[in-house]
Amino acid sequence: MAVFQIRTFPDPLLKQKAKRVTTIDRSIKKLISDMIETLHAEPGRAGLAAPQIGVPLRVIVIGLPENEDIVLINPQIARRRGERMIDEGCLSVPGYIGQIKRAESVTVKGRDQNGKETRIKAEGLLAQALEHEIDHLNGVLYLDHLESVEQLRKIEPEEPQM
Ligand SMILES: [Zn+2]
Repeated sequence: MAVFQIRTFPDPLLKQKAKRVTTIDRSIKKLISDMIETLHAEPGRAGLAAPQIGVPLRVIVIGLPENEDIVLINPQIARRRGERMIDEGCLSVPGYIGQIKRAESVTVKGRDQNGKETRIKAEGLLAQALEHEIDHLNGVLYLDHLESVEQLRKIEPEEPQM
């Protein structure tokens, strides 16, 4: 396992669409271990997508306090419900937070690290983290959802990021 450096804006890899994982082989299992280790390397990291550590594949991990770590391969949003304006921060855009529109709840389909099909219904911070990480797989940053630059603010480094 290894802790990777997180790519930051405007790294071009963050704007690329990541590729689907076809086989969950040893290299994918190692990638997942590295992502989980990188996620927990510092406090306040809520989630991570593979492109953030330089790997353009559709794999995300989410680690929220009071929840077990979630690993999803080829995740897809099956359903979005409701709308809300919320603050969002990203490990790839350090030092800033922005207010954007997200769903109130989402249903996400994908596979776990053993290849088993899973379906997650989520609301609150977990729904936000799932939308945020799946956006990363599509080359989208929360900056792309800002209606204006005035919705971007500087923050203290200890606020949660994903
Ligand atoms: Zn992010």
